[in-house]
Amino acid sequence: MVQFLLKKGAGEISNLTVALEQLRDRVRSCRRCFNLAEDELCWVCSSAKRNHQLLCVLEEPSDLLAIERAGLFTGVYHVLGGRLSPIDGIGPSDLHIAALESRLRSGTIQELIIATNPTVEGEVTGQYLAALATPLVDRITRLAYGLPMGGELEYLDESTLYQALAGRRDFNGSAASQLPR
Ligand SMILES: [Zn+2]
Repeated sequence: MVQFLLKKGAGEISNLTVALEQLRDRVRSCRRCFNLAEDELCWVCSSAKRNHQLLCVLEEPSDLLAIERAGLFTGVYHVLGGRLSPIDGIGPSDLHIAALESRLRSGTIQELIIATNPTVEGEVTGQYLAALATPLVDRITRLAYGLPMGGELEYLDESTLYQALAGRRDFNGSAASQLPR
């Protein structure tokens, strides 16, 4: 990055500085889904064209952008802000899980798509969410396998992600009730 900057003129560097300051001042978290936003609600939550009964839960805003790039999903999102990780001391209260629960309790969501990453921790997080959501929402699905284990959504090519979303299947959360809260 330093090499890149050294090749640029002073004007370009000060433009970059202004852009970074604007980023710091303008970008915040969406009040509803915790996506990046410039207003109270992000561009997805404030869109009338999206299906607000179809909710996709994922770990980070970068995962959301990956799914948007795949171009299939017409619903809305909920960004957890990470994944459960007992080793790192990250529990449910460290993520936006309570906010997800209250969205599910509102009764407007017909399907919850669990799109946590296909890593061990992402899988544990998905199981936890499935157990939480089972009494609250009619249909719970997950991205189809075919996703590489240990992979991250944001690095997947669009067609793999498209297939995973198109082939999503029902999430069997029955084993998840034994997970610690
Ligand atoms: Zn939002």
